[in-house]
Amino acid sequence: MIKKIAILASGGNSPAMNNAIITLVRKAKSLGISVELIYEGYKGLLEENFVKSQLSMLSYFYANGSVIIGTSRYPKFTELKVRQKAKQILNKHKIDCLFVIGGDGSYKGAEGLAKLGIKVICLPGTIDNDVRSTVKTIGFSTALNQIVTSIDNIRNSFDSHCGIALVEVMGRRFPDLSINAAIATQAEGLVTCDNVLSVDDIVKISKETWKNKHRSCIIVVSEKVYGYNGLPTLAQITKEIKEKTNRLCRTIVLGYIQRGGVPSAEDRILASRLASFAIDQCIKSEKNKSYTIDYLGAGKIVANEISKSLNLKVKETNKKVYLDFLKYNKF
Ligand code: ADP
Repeated sequence: MIKKIAILASGGNSPAMNNAIITLVRKAKSLGISVELIYEGYKGLLEENFVKSQLSMLSYFYANGSVIIGTSRYPKFTELKVRQKAKQILNKHKIDCLFVIGGDGSYKGAEGLAKLGIKVICLPGTIDNDVRSTVKTIGFSTALNQIVTSIDNIRNSFDSHCGIALVEVMGRRFPDLSINAAIATQAEGLVTCDNVLSVDDIVKISKETWKNKHRSCIIVVSEKVYGYNGLPTLAQITKEIKEKTNRLCRTIVLGYIQRGGVPSAEDRILASRLASFAIDQCIKSEKNKSYTIDYLGAGKIVANEISKSLNLKVKETNKKVYLDFLKYNKF
């Protein structure tokens, strides 16, 4: 029987993590389960940064894009002896199930704990949409809206000058944010790890743009493509394009603006539905079984074993939305 649970957030912060936390706490309390909040992710777990949840305080943060219990990156968690210590701490606090909200890195940490016999339930909280087992992660919709609003504003300025803007967008190995942002903003070009544009490609695109389509030329660029694997940096690319076109040409790095937005209705609802399902799964499943809670689209939520989720192939959706971009973006 589940008497006490703990909740932590891990990895990069993501809007609507709070909504998942609030729903987990509300539902658990309504079922007579007590809840400990672990501040600052796996680091806080090792430092025993446990706080008894106070729902009255938490509930005020439902429309706040921060993570009220904090999150962290803690590379030491990859070490077995550190996870063994974490297990001792969880047992000492009599935690029957740990809820982890984070991305694929956090899931690997959870898998490591599950292998030591800790019951863990993972919820996908990351703006990058980089969890293979779910079609949409908590925070993706808000971050995408932030990016689209920013690019709309950049478009207004660059329209006035017939300029070229290379807009760098987050999403390390999963370019879902950049691809979807490019479609939503009718961008003229898109750079991802699978689709690198050269200076000459971008100069050609910009000339076609001015002739046939638009006064400004927006190129959406996934982070960590230029400047890696022998490619020139984004700053070098921008300088060369400027020299070849003699137009206004700028790199704009959206950076942390993407992460901190007020959670969208879509993210709040997704977070709450996944969290509610997660509590049900925790109660009905066997004592030592761990799961990821996954959204499959069309309202369908399922639970999968963590190892199975982590070993899935890269989502087909990436390829599909990229082909959509090419389809919509014909001159
Ligand atoms: P995200 O969860 O958003 O993908 P990270 O990849 O930074 O973010 O991972 C978050 C944290 O998860 C790491 O700082 C570390 O504490 C833990 N973690 C990541 N990979 C592993 C791993 N292979 N084994 C154990 N813990 C891991």
